[in-house]
Amino acid sequence: MFEKVLIANRGEIAVRVIRTCQELGIATVAVYSELDRDALHVRLADEAYALGGQTAAESYLNTEAILDAIARSGAQAVHPGYGFFSENTDFARAVTGQGVVFVGPPPEAIEVMGDKISSRRAAEAAGVSGVPGHTEPVTDQAEVTAFAETHGWPVAIKAAFGGGGRGMKVVGDPAEVAEAMESAQREAQAYFGRPEIYLEKYLDWPRHIEMQVLADTHGNALWLGERDCSCQRRHQKLIEESPAPDFPDDVRQAMGAAAVTVAKACGYVNAGTVEFLYQEGEFFFLEMNTRLQVEHPVTELVTGLDLVEWQLRVAAGEPLGFSQEDLRRDGHAIEVRINAEDPTGGRFAPSPGRITLLVPPGGPGVRLDAGYESGDTVSQYYDNLVAKLVVWGPDREAARRRMLRALRETVVRGVATTIPADLAILDHPDFAAARHSTRWVEDRVDLTTLPALGGQAPPAVPADEPEPRVLREVTAEVDGRRYTVKLWVPEAAAGAPAGARTGPRTSRPRVTDAGTGSGTVTVPMQGTIVKVLVAVGDVVEVGQTVCVLEAMKMENAIAAEKEGTVREVKVSAGDSVGAGDVVAVVE
Ligand code: ADP
Repeated sequence: MFEKVLIANRGEIAVRVIRTCQELGIATVAVYSELDRDALHVRLADEAYALGGQTAAESYLNTEAILDAIARSGAQAVHPGYGFFSENTDFARAVTGQGVVFVGPPPEAIEVMGDKISSRRAAEAAGVSGVPGHTEPVTDQAEVTAFAETHGWPVAIKAAFGGGGRGMKVVGDPAEVAEAMESAQREAQAYFGRPEIYLEKYLDWPRHIEMQVLADTHGNALWLGERDCSCQRRHQKLIEESPAPDFPDDVRQAMGAAAVTVAKACGYVNAGTVEFLYQEGEFFFLEMNTRLQVEHPVTELVTGLDLVEWQLRVAAGEPLGFSQEDLRRDGHAIEVRINAEDPTGGRFAPSPGRITLLVPPGGPGVRLDAGYESGDTVSQYYDNLVAKLVVWGPDREAARRRMLRALRETVVRGVATTIPADLAILDHPDFAAARHSTRWVEDRVDLTTLPALGGQAPPAVPADEPEPRVLREVTAEVDGRRYTVKLWVPEAAAGAPAGARTGPRTSRPRVTDAGTGSGTVTVPMQGTIVKVLVAVGDVVEVGQTVCVLEAMKMENAIAAEKEGTVREVKVSAGDSVGAGDVVAVVE
């Protein structure tokens, strides 16, 4: 086994990997951007190296800086987590080129599964069918219309190199085709650097069920069980569970076998996930994710396996210590994603900022995988996943009730979170009865009545609290390597708490709605304008989109809050804007 592992990631997944390494007695190396100098993953790791930069591109996607940290730390293996470099073959090859192990599949397997078109082809060649669709990119509007005439509307226009629910547009009739193609291509180019799009039939009430696989370098490939990830908004997962409810065991066995077939067909090694859409007893291959998934803990809770441990063991050349028949799945696990997003009115607006207070839930069967603690900041530059709350129960209903209890116990202040939406979903009779599908949250759950800031508005400031001394950890960087020095300082001089237990701080509630109602349309956060939809002289209604802002890896519609005529448009596509900047004036 390795003695030292570098984790080329941040947030909860870096913390997750560090924890298993600690349990296995492996020394851990963190890397960090300028904004993450005091982040939880850095605090937990045995040593840490500065990558410089703020944005992902400048830091966690800076190959040279990471390779340099690997060399300087003497790490024998690199765990990429998910996102960032986890599915980047250039990075994987650069790592192995340095004689260091990349904890993941061989680059060839990543390449075959790396885009949706080539993975569909590979699965179909192995005899596993995908959703009816194309295996060639589409460029012409007429192809979309022709496809719909054969397969029926609606049609899904998908980014061939897409992921994370981005870059997919659903078109219901010919009039929407042009705009959907343009928007899908624009998002695909912006997020994935490749504009190619292709077509699939859009299934109308499917469930997203995916199969965890694990393969070693000795020819063993097993399926560990499925996860139902149907609770989504904007095609991004919100809640995941295992086993999938109301899922016949013969279908499970067939899906497991199909997943292993796909894995073997691409020479897969390490942990991977084969995603399917399931509708009316049939399942269709969607894609394979060649990395650890965000939602892997639900599989861990029902199988009792530590997937990160097995990733490391497999990467170190160990054979899987069990067979398909040895695997046991017990009880039911549910995971809820707690994102820094304001679900008020069902809008899920990004809500970066300082977490003034985070109180994790406790009690039986509860696990919180968080990337932050009280005092930490959720940056607008990175994914806004604050934590994953995962519970286990002997059956689904017990797990559902336990999750409701644990969510109500969880306190997050300073940023808005998806907790109120998660509660509304778990409490819904359709969820309890497992009548959900991938469209259920958006079509059937009324989130428009959710209260502002999720009912977790910061408390009033206690006026006469004594000023105690607090423990401050001061970071010193010596030649790019991070050292921590501890100091006791008066709280007033301590400034912002970073890891020190200073009790709840307060902050003013964030205003995340676009515009002020006065006709001045502003953006709620820093980002880039990707499209302006109005011109001076246009008449707009309340709620009409004025421009599209790309921020926190999402396209956000910035809407007029007042009816009237557009008097001024202050931005154009490509402009960078800051929080509160005025983009248009309506009178
Ligand atoms: P990503 O790589 O962005 O996660 P996927 O292809 O895995 O994209 O799809 C994400 C989600 O989008 C699925 O879970 C499902 O909800 C929806 N989806 C994707 N393709 C289809 C389709 N053809 N029909 C219906 N829903 C789809």
